[in-house]
Amino acid sequence: MPFQLQDRANVTQVKLEDIAPKRRCMTHPPNKEADEPKRIPRQDPFVLQLKQKRVKKCQGCKGDFGEPVPPADLVIQHRNNFPYYNKKEGKRMDKWTNGYFHANVACIKPRFSDFDPREVVMPPATLKDLTEAHVDYCRQHGLVLALGFL
Ligand SMILES: [Zn+2]
Repeated sequence: MPFQLQDRANVTQVKLEDIAPKRRCMTHPPNKEADEPKRIPRQDPFVLQLKQKRVKKCQGCKGDFGEPVPPADLVIQHRNNFPYYNKKEGKRMDKWTNGYFHANVACIKPRFSDFDPREVVMPPATLKDLTEAHVDYCRQHGLVLALGFL
């Protein structure tokens, strides 16, 4: 009997959940339809931003951002070429795009295991709208902001 592809998939497939820390997000449960694990060295910074309308989904936990209430209206923007499945195109994409994450180490770490919570960049545009509650929120979610004045 020939070796069935289906059987082989059962033998060799390793789920991300088995090898990586549990994807955990305070507001969204993990999504089972997550992409297969594939680590790519990153080069671009992680940038703290207030969520904009066009930002829909967290690349980490795959949860929708929805309409978050401050201070939960923060996202981490990170330009990367992490492969993702484009439903419209019906195929896997592997190009450089802006990815967005909840401002939560638990959402970023499973995808970028070398993410350092101290390296989050904060542009002036974010800084001017940042409240103390935002800073606390970041701290509670494992992000260390370089703020000399707070
Ligand atoms: Zn998330």
